Amino acid sequence: MFSLLSRPTTTLLLGTCKGETAAHVAFDDNFPPAYVHIKVDANNTPMVQFVIHELIHVILSELVLGKFDETLEEVIVVSLDSYMWAFVSNSKPRLAKWNALIEKKLAEEPVKLKSIEEVVDRSREKSQ
Ligand SMILES: [Zn+2]
Repeated sequence: MFSLLSRPTTTLLLGTCKGETAAHVAFDDNFPPAYVHIKVDANNTPMVQFVIHELIHVILSELVLGKFDETLEEVIVVSLDSYMWAFVSNSKPRLAKWNALIEKKLAEEPVKLKSIEEVVDRSREKSQ
């Protein structure tokens, strides 16, 4: 999952997502997909968890396509994302590694916020 996000053909953008969704992923029909575009709503944290959630959609795409409907796919992805998020967030070095990669990916795009910290700080202010 980390290597999928690391690839140069995987892009990560901050932006406003339509409707209720906090994040969105688009990818081509190859398996594994050649190109992956992830968009995460800047107001949603922890961002790592949202990115992991979208990466799970990509990884499971071939497995679930034609076997589970969208609702069931979401149930599967959410349960795996909870597990993965616990795994990542329970280790400070692991979480730092993910945050650093996300920051690097965001820096690859011309229009975005400066850093993951800026995003986190903003949402903390909002929730207080
Ligand atoms: Zn989802």
